[in-house]
Amino acid sequence: MDNPTSALLESPDFAKFLFNGLNTAIFLIDRDFRVRMVNDAYRALFTQEEAKALGELCGNALGCAFAVDQGTPCGTTTECANCALRNSALASVAAIDDEPKTSYISRTFYIAGKPILKHLRVITKSILRDGDPITIIALDDITELEEQKERIRDLANRDPLTNIFNRRYFFEVGEAIFQNATRGNISIAVAMFDIDHFKRVNDARGHVAGDAVLRAVSDTLAKNLRKADVLARFGGEEFCLLMHCHEPEDAYTVIDKLRLLIEQQPIVYEGSPIAVTISAGLTAKLDASLEAMIAHADEMLYKAKEGGRNRTEEYTG
Ligand code: GH3
Ligand code: MG
Ligand code: MG
Repeated sequence: MDNPTSALLESPDFAKFLFNGLNTAIFLIDRDFRVRMVNDAYRALFTQEEAKALGELCGNALGCAFAVDQGTPCGTTTECANCALRNSALASVAAIDDEPKTSYISRTFYIAGKPILKHLRVITKSILRDGDPITIIALDDITELEEQKERIRDLANRDPLTNIFNRRYFFEVGEAIFQNATRGNISIAVAMFDIDHFKRVNDARGHVAGDAVLRAVSDTLAKNLRKADVLARFGGEEFCLLMHCHEPEDAYTVIDKLRLLIEQQPIVYEGSPIAVTISAGLTAKLDASLEAMIAHADEMLYKAKEGGRNRTEEYTG
């Protein structure tokens, strides 16, 4: 008996369904990387008419930011050698009989004139047509999935109450920053902050007011840092900051300015103010480990508390 599957594959209806009935954007390019055919999903993904794409070089048809921004034809930009789509297509042409090749790209495309970051799964397969290779390129838009994954990753790195980083993430990125400082590439400082007499806030105004204070203090600290600095909630009302310094001598000034900002920032809860101060301990001396720097900053925090609170103490070795 005939295998019904092979008969189906010959059927134009089935081919049409595979080409246009699925959500995968498919386009065909010739050996010169010029687009020869596009499907409905391609037109929808790039909001582009087929006529606009036909005959164009792959990246120019797609609106690839490398080609558009550099104003050069696809295949000649500085990024083309590392283009996974291009390399996959080239590999497919070189090995016509191979299985389809899968790769992933995250790239900005100009879609309807607007730059949009897309995460795409790319599958390529070359076939011979009248002795010439034609490469079929299938693109699955996995942007939403990747963005969701990114949101989940970010959520896992943050403290839910204050939305600043958590301790685990602090050490994850802190270690790499510390190593970079050890190699002499950057200067760093570590500071520990602790809210003064925070228990009194909870006792006098309630736990919810205490939470509002924690959020306000974290916000103020976070807003006054640079993007590369890492601020984390280490414990109840305790924060740790890993800071990049231009001049290690200035670390004290920077940290004490943060302390002053907290002191001066009015925190109002349910109509009445809550006076909040913090104590800070810091070290700008590179030590054997990040943990050792934290321990020194912690010692200094203790000293600041002993010395009367609402002050900054720096480790001098
Ligand atoms: P000190 O100036 O010596 O640091 O005094 P303190 O009162 O701030 O320190 P202590 O360690 O005695 O108290 C810290 C309080 O922080 C106790 C705890 O109930 C409170 N706390 C810890 N986590 C949270 C939180 O997530 N929300 C609220 N509202 N309070 C918290
Ligand atoms: Mg405290
Ligand atoms: Mg504490």
